[in-house]
Amino acid sequence: MIPAASLPLQPEPAHSAPRWQQAWRDAVRDPMALLAQLRLPELAARLSPQAAAQFQMRVPQGFVARMRVGDAADPLLRQVLPLDDEMRPAHGFSLDAVGDAAARSGAGVLQKYNGRALLVATGSCAINCRYCFRRHFPYAEETAARDGWREAVDLIAADTSVEEVLLSGGDPLSLATHKLAELTAALIRVPHLKRLRIHSRLPIVLPERVDQALLDWLAPLPWPVTLVVHANHANEFDAQVDRALARLRGVGVTLLNQAVLLRGVNDSVQALTDLSERGFAAGVLPYYLHQLDRVQGVAHFEVDDDTARALHRALAARLSGYLVPRLVREIQGDTGKRPL
Ligand code: SF4
Repeated sequence: MIPAASLPLQPEPAHSAPRWQQAWRDAVRDPMALLAQLRLPELAARLSPQAAAQFQMRVPQGFVARMRVGDAADPLLRQVLPLDDEMRPAHGFSLDAVGDAAARSGAGVLQKYNGRALLVATGSCAINCRYCFRRHFPYAEETAARDGWREAVDLIAADTSVEEVLLSGGDPLSLATHKLAELTAALIRVPHLKRLRIHSRLPIVLPERVDQALLDWLAPLPWPVTLVVHANHANEFDAQVDRALARLRGVGVTLLNQAVLLRGVNDSVQALTDLSERGFAAGVLPYYLHQLDRVQGVAHFEVDDDTARALHRALAARLSGYLVPRLVREIQGDTGKRPL
């Protein structure tokens, strides 16, 4: 099993390596260096080298810049710091909490829901979120891109019930743009496709990724494109993220947000209100608020179901309906996300 963090970048041709790849390479990987930068030496005793070895810390400098210096409870820091909490055994937490293995229909292709095929495009991410539900996923064997997308495209072409392709990962936008263009050039020849969806945290954590080459790839695609970003806290947005999101909307991309309900990050009505309002101000509609997937090493982030429901009711009482995400959980074998 190879953690996503150990997989290499997909480089652009050497003469034209874009700026976002440099920003990605400059990501902070040393937890002690991060604590020094944030002036939080007192947290060093809670770090876990084993957790970091199992799933490497990786956090772009631009995301670090949105953390509060000297705040040990910063909600962005909590999402990325490998703590000893991760190594405590927890009952009911497994390696494959959402049944990815059972949903596999080919290398890097998961078919869980009617009409949709999800491509695990790559194992790489710009940031490694400690609560990640795929932190134990065997990416080395399972990326759809590794054979030039051939098996994935053949499977989709052979199944006329598939109307929507989802690019997921890892983070599909961590692939070089020419690699993504290779996929869509092949998918254009599949007549039954109607929609393309991309799940990516990069526009939030590494907004440099939304460069002209990416927009030039997205703009002429023949299907409506939905980009589901992933932000868990209002502080993840800043002016650069706003610009990146505006550029995506400028080429006709629909923007939605999925968040994970995380203890110590966004488990309050105020934090969830701020997230919905800040995202909407940036042109992003709330989509899902996920209950945590119960994967090993993440139990300290869990919010119990009764508390989750109470938070969601309070959110609905406070906000306009379109600002209230659906509170859901993914259950292995279900035909869709299950509302709580
Ligand atoms: S960006 Fe998504 S896939 Fe990547 S580590 Fe975070 S939660 Fe996991």
